[in-house]
Amino acid sequence: MSEVKQQLKIYANKIVETALVVGAGGNLSMRDGTFMYISPSGFDLQGIDDDQWVKVDIKTGEVFGDLKPSSELLMHLECYRKRSDITAVLHAHPSYSVGVSSSGKDIPMLFPDAPAMIRNVSYLEYLIPTTEVLATAVGEVIMDTDVVVMRNHGVLTVGKTMKEAYFFMQIIEESAKVFTIASTVGSPRILTDIEVEDLRNLSSEKYRSNLLKDSK
Ligand code: 13P
Ligand code: ZN
Repeated sequence: MSEVKQQLKIYANKIVETALVVGAGGNLSMRDGTFMYISPSGFDLQGIDDDQWVKVDIKTGEVFGDLKPSSELLMHLECYRKRSDITAVLHAHPSYSVGVSSSGKDIPMLFPDAPAMIRNVSYLEYLIPTTEVLATAVGEVIMDTDVVVMRNHGVLTVGKTMKEAYFFMQIIEESAKVFTIASTVGSPRILTDIEVEDLRNLSSEKYRSNLLKDSK
């Protein structure tokens, strides 16, 4: 099995095991030269066989094989076309992120890993899933961010590696979860701009973030 398909399999399993999606929700893809491999539409991500990942030409959008690619194919293509630096795109429906953002709130930075690992987060108002409108909206923000929260829908992350995209997804979800817990207990103290800046400048944090960019 190719390296790309091995990675896709590992992370498809992790996404389901860590409840970042339920049922047939979510999709993931990886770049392989001028092509990408993406999950087939409507599948339980844990149930995808090695030969069922759908090959797509990134430039032309041509789809190979008999299986229908993820209905969010256009969104994935936009990311690869706009960001030559990324090799992985992940889309999930994590409950706390969807819950907090659907109440109209943004997900605040409450603990060090969030600002240290994530440079910024973009928010999109509700747009109909699987449409060109959603893909275009993602394409408009993806140059400036690695994490896009879609209110009333889910989250998209991109990474230099699939591990990085997965960590971004976990961290945004953990941030939303911690915010929900803190709001239930009392009123959360959000990290100040100076604290966020200091964390981003820490050499120890830079080392940890950089590890994700070239490791599996
Ligand atoms: P697919 O099963 O077609 O990938 O769609 C899942 C999804 O999350 C749509 O937004
Ligand atoms: Zn979705």
